Amino acid sequence: MRRKLVAGNWKMNGVTDSLGEVAKIAKAAAANPGIDVALCPPATLIAPAVAVAGGMPIGGQDCHENDSGAHTGCISAPMLKDAGATLTIVGHSERRADQNETSHDAWAKAAAAHRHGLNVILCVGETEAERNAGRAERVVQAQIEKSVPEDAEGSWFTLAYEPRWAIGTGRTPTLEDIASIHAIARAKLGTMIGDDRAQGIRILYGGSVTGANAASILAVDNVDGALVGGASLTAEKFVPIIEAAA
Ligand code: PEP
Repeated sequence: MRRKLVAGNWKMNGVTDSLGEVAKIAKAAAANPGIDVALCPPATLIAPAVAVAGGMPIGGQDCHENDSGAHTGCISAPMLKDAGATLTIVGHSERRADQNETSHDAWAKAAAAHRHGLNVILCVGETEAERNAGRAERVVQAQIEKSVPEDAEGSWFTLAYEPRWAIGTGRTPTLEDIASIHAIARAKLGTMIGDDRAQGIRILYGGSVTGANAASILAVDNVDGALVGGASLTAEKFVPIIEAAA
């Protein structure tokens, strides 16, 4: 049985004043022990967020494939660990778009994070043009093929299906389309790592999840939680999503 996971991605938002929201979200997480809740603030807030999170997992939003070196502005898995993170997102579509990251990069980052004991949320998802061309399924399968580590298992690895055109737009796929991609994603994992291990891996949906649509999305087969951007920035918007998952 896969426990639901609701993870917040604050992206490039949040300063010290935002820590009150972390504390309120952590309180809601503690009040809903039947699910997992995690929050990925900007790197500058990881350590102070850990201090107010009361044990709720705090994560990074990216992680370099190398442990250290001449990579200005980047953050490594040992640094995330040192700051108190227990997980990290890799392969987010904004990094694929803004930093030209590939599925192979996401694979290497996931492997580095795991090497250092961090849990991983790895994102895949098609563009609007790819969906309109009828290629969404093939694109997601190819991304999974190239980015999921061979030793992935549910104890540390989570996949997030995030159609790029749904991120931050207020638009979501139909529930049927979400069900279809999640089923295809799990089948693809099965061919790569075996059905038993694939069944243990959580597949989150991400893209314009809100308190209003969370319950119906989270009820879809093979949807094991949500990765939430904009609606995770305040407890007022994020807590209803946590409660819908619980
Ligand atoms: C995200 O950034 O992963 C995301 C899903 O964003 P939003 O919820 O704002 O669409």
